[in-house]
Amino acid sequence: MAEDWGSASFLEEQFRRYYKVGVGKVDPPLEMERREFGFLPFDGGVMIRHTSFSDPSQLHAFIMEKAPAHIYYSSAYYREPRSDMESKGWIGADMVFDIDADHMETPCRMNHDAWRCNLCGAEGMGRAPERCPKCGGTNLEEETWICDICLDKAKGEAQKLLDILIQDFGIPLEYLKVNFTGNRGYHIHITAPWIRGLDQRARREIVDYVTGTGMRIELLGFRPGVKGSSPLHGLGWRGRASKALYDYLAKPPPRLLEMVRSKGKRMRSIIDSRDEILRVLGEGPPSGILKYLGRESLNRLMEEAVREQAAAVDTVVTTDIHRLIRLPNTLNGKTGLIAQPVSVEELEDYDPLSSSIAFKGGEVPIYVRRAPMFRLGGEKYGPFKEELASLPLAAAIFLLCRKAARIER
Ligand SMILES: [Zn+2]
Ligand SMILES: [Zn+2]
Repeated sequence: MAEDWGSASFLEEQFRRYYKVGVGKVDPPLEMERREFGFLPFDGGVMIRHTSFSDPSQLHAFIMEKAPAHIYYSSAYYREPRSDMESKGWIGADMVFDIDADHMETPCRMNHDAWRCNLCGAEGMGRAPERCPKCGGTNLEEETWICDICLDKAKGEAQKLLDILIQDFGIPLEYLKVNFTGNRGYHIHITAPWIRGLDQRARREIVDYVTGTGMRIELLGFRPGVKGSSPLHGLGWRGRASKALYDYLAKPPPRLLEMVRSKGKRMRSIIDSRDEILRVLGEGPPSGILKYLGRESLNRLMEEAVREQAAAVDTVVTTDIHRLIRLPNTLNGKTGLIAQPVSVEELEDYDPLSSSIAFKGGEVPIYVRRAPMFRLGGEKYGPFKEELASLPLAAAIFLLCRKAARIER
């Protein structure tokens, strides 16, 4: 038998023990009888799909019996959730935004992520390169971890998205659900009845809006002849983009200074007339800015500034109307943490690496293959490399779920 990295049977036993008490917290989704449920077991088998439940006690009994590694439900509502895809009878779907640190560039990746070439065995830290620098092979394995920096970044993206959904779309809080995924990010659900019928194209348009895709400065009021007051108080993207531009110029990030250096004279004059540009942004009209900034430069700067304000959501997941989504208040089999609902008001102070800890218990002896330093609750652990360690249950389960360790019997 291959080495049992992750010790699946131990984890299944622990998850079952957790659900014995914790299953009551697992709230079924709205109209649960119209949803498809899916489960991934610990034994590495295939997903159990096309399941449905008519009431919470049925769902809870199933979870307690199987103790799955991952529990999902469909964002969609179906007439026949148990049928195969063709005959399910799609009625509608919630809109679920996926915010995942995997899609964000964070400096901490160099400290905690690692890659390995399956062909020649070369290794390195950070994101896997496209090709192995040693042998040129493309069969690279990537190992990703979470830390406070990436989770804070994901939270920031969630907050930007919520701001746009609340301010620009006017979505009432009662229809907005925020969930920590138990691993690398957040899911934001819109459950409003009027969102359900939107097709993929309509959802795509919403995603384009929140990501600031295809923004045109002329439509934001930055064109000759437009009169009016400061764009900073404009509604929607007009105000948001102008504010972004203002902040961007008031405190230019290193990237802008880099751009100025590489693009030469024209960009340098932007920095020189910065105070004037900031004054025009503050007093209006927005068209006044064109005196100091050519259209092309303004476009480029706006693009950069908008990127700072736009919410980084995964377009593919968000526009998928058949997607299975992690069920809130269930355990994430990749970490052992709870996929936890957070209220919009509490998000700011929410600490996922403390609040979502499911397992409390004494020390467990494990053998760790490799792990960067990580934090759970108030404690830091590691880094570890090919060594024995005795860790509190939650930390041991975290490493086992990452398949970075095995139980030492
Ligand atoms: Zn290689
Ligand atoms: Zn990180």
